[in-house]
Amino acid sequence: MTEARLRVVQADITTLAVDAIVNAANSSLLGGGGVDGAIHRAAGPRLLEECQAIRNRQGGCRTGRAVITGGHRLPATFVIHTVGPVWQDGDSGEDDLLASCYHESLRLAEAQGCRTVAFPAISTGIYGFPADRAAGIAIRVCREWLAAHDLPQTITLVAFDGPALAILQSALKKEA
Ligand code: ADP
Repeated sequence: MTEARLRVVQADITTLAVDAIVNAANSSLLGGGGVDGAIHRAAGPRLLEECQAIRNRQGGCRTGRAVITGGHRLPATFVIHTVGPVWQDGDSGEDDLLASCYHESLRLAEAQGCRTVAFPAISTGIYGFPADRAAGIAIRVCREWLAAHDLPQTITLVAFDGPALAILQSALKKEA
C-alpha cells in the first residue's frame, strides 16, 4: 500500500501538476541556482515577492526547516521551500537535517491538505550531499510518513537526469 504511494520519476519538477512541489532553497529564501532558480523562473516574480514577505516576517528559513508559498505561474498550487544541509563530512548532523527537510515539508503539505507532493533530490546538487545516501534518507522518511498519515496520498521523488533516476530506483529496491 505504502509502495504504491511512493514514486520515482525523471522530470523537470517545474512541469509537474501536483498540489505542491518542494524547492531546495537556501536560508535567505531569495532564490539561487539549480532547482531553486528553475522554480523561480517558472513561477514568475510574484514568488520572490512572497518569499521576501516571509523573510521580512521571520528572517528566512533555517536548515532542516520549511516554509510554504503559492505556486504562482507553476502548474503546482504550492511551493514548499526547505533548506537542505551543506555536506561537510557526514558527521556534522547532515543526515538528521536532511531527514528533517523531508519531514517538515510533508508536515506543511499535510496541513495544506495536499494530496500530491513532489520532491527534488534536496542537497545533492550545489550542496554536495552524496546522492545515494540522500536517496536512502528520502525514501526512509517518506515511507515512515506514508505509513502513519493519509495525506499526502502520493509522494513523487524527482530525478533530474538518468544517473539520479538510477540511484533513486536502486535505493527504492534496497530499502524495501
Ligand atoms: P542543493 O543546493 O540543495 O544541492 P540544487 O538545486 O543544486 O540544490 O540540486 C538539488 C537537486 O535538484 C540536484 O540533484 C539537481 O540535479 C536537481 N535539479 C536541478 N534542477 C532541477 C529541476 N528543474 N527539476 C528537478 N530537479 C532538479
